[in-house]
Amino acid sequence: MSTNIVAEQSSAAAAEQTNTAAALGKQSRTGLLIIGASQSGVQLAVSLRALGFAEHITLLGDEDHRPYQRPALSKEFLQGTVESESLIFRSSEYWAEHNVDLVKGEYIVRIDKEADGSGVAHSSAGKQFPFKRLALTVGARARKLEIEGADLDGVLYLRNADDALALKARVADAQDVVVIGGGFIGLEAASSLQKMGKNVTVLEFGPRLVGRAVGEETAEYFLQAHRARGLDIRLNTSAARFAPDTAAGKEQTRVAAVELKDGTVLPAQIVLIGIGVIPNTQLAEQLGLVVDNGVVVDRFALASDGTTVAVGDVANMPNPVPGSKTGERIRLESVNNAIEHAKVAAYSLTGRREEYAGIPWFWSNQADLKLQIAGLCNGFDQTVLRRDKERGKFTVLYYRQGQVIAADCVNAPLDFMAVKNALAKGQNIPADAAADPATQLKTITTGS
Ligand SMILES: Cc1cc2nc3c(=O)[nH]c(=O)nc-3n(C[C@H](O)[C@H](O)[C@H](O)COP(=O)(O)OP(=O)(O)OC[C@H]3O[C@@H](n4cnc5c(N)ncnc54)[C@H](O)[C@@H]3O)c2cc1C
Repeated sequence: MSTNIVAEQSSAAAAEQTNTAAALGKQSRTGLLIIGASQSGVQLAVSLRALGFAEHITLLGDEDHRPYQRPALSKEFLQGTVESESLIFRSSEYWAEHNVDLVKGEYIVRIDKEADGSGVAHSSAGKQFPFKRLALTVGARARKLEIEGADLDGVLYLRNADDALALKARVADAQDVVVIGGGFIGLEAASSLQKMGKNVTVLEFGPRLVGRAVGEETAEYFLQAHRARGLDIRLNTSAARFAPDTAAGKEQTRVAAVELKDGTVLPAQIVLIGIGVIPNTQLAEQLGLVVDNGVVVDRFALASDGTTVAVGDVANMPNPVPGSKTGERIRLESVNNAIEHAKVAAYSLTGRREEYAGIPWFWSNQADLKLQIAGLCNGFDQTVLRRDKERGKFTVLYYRQGQVIAADCVNAPLDFMAVKNALAKGQNIPADAAADPATQLKTITTGS
């Protein structure tokens, strides 16, 4: 399998570059400039065309790759079980046919914008991209761990394709891997690397795994399940420094060990850091938009200037779950959110006002553990555990004042679907009846 996500030599690719060059040469003003060519940006362009948006669209990103799906980077792509071509969202032919200029490898550093929403974006290479309307789909970047040795070769992150390629390039020469951060990305990558025969240790700073996203029962389930599968997971543990290989004759640029705060030294030819992300709000700040853990947007994905849309990982939006507290805001980092939020923004840009449809959901595959989360568990006051040890199924339902609001489902797709459907229809799944794992949740759903 090729490890190169970039490779593409079709005539459409050439046309794509030519279209762009022509458009730039004339300095024509694109109808919509989408900055950030990933899950949200791609979906926004696709949804706009589906809604009949007739203006020219420029989909611009700083990566040199054609827009690709990120989830596989910590899973199938890392393990080498998927063709890189299958991660590409849309063919170059699609973009050409839909009058979308795909611009790769341009990092926007500044935007001049008028009150009517039009303006000019400037790239670090000195190019200008004039636009009538602007969309920020710039996502998030990996949070860095600034400790001694952080710049050693082999200390890596996993946010984009280049990160994944760098990791893959080092895997063959490494036997010991230390993953820093017991969140989704860390655990997915740790499981993949373990499957590839590496000795993997996961260091989690907090008292439990996946702290922010799931409740205690699910965190504990994952801890036990991963330990049972041989992952060395250490909670309440931090790295003090990364140490280079000091063997005679070796250049001291490659990481060789992780020294913990308690003095323990773990050998590591790869250190993978997954300690969360920071939303890319630099452009929004420069534009004077309201920013608070992301670009603050209204229910229609509009930023505080009333013309720019911001979508996906970068956006801080009103909680879209029906029945959530008024004024509660949330920034979600998931594929499903990027897609649904982009659809909301597409409606806005075509003059319609449509709110977020459906219920936020998320998945994470770690070894044979297939987690699916429906809804958001924020503010729960009761949980119900359903466990079928024989079949390896595990579900936690979350309730607020007797109403189901979310569920974490491991290898339990029927539970996931039942909760997701109930939430979407404003129904309930009574807690007392849900506790019996032999009962199918869809048969006890109540309400209209
Ligand atoms: C390894 C990995 C595994 C994941 N697994 C899952 C999963 O299993 N399930 C799930 O639901 N979600 C998963 N996610 C999360 C999901 O991929 C993200 O939520 C999604 O990609 C968000 O899309 P986005 O377009 O909003 O932002 P991003 O995907 O972050 O894209 C933003 C793009 O904008 C570019 N950009 C930023 N600033 C500029 C600029 N100034 N100029 C030009 N371009 C710029 C960035 O380089 C990037 O290409 C995973 C993410 C990663 C990294």
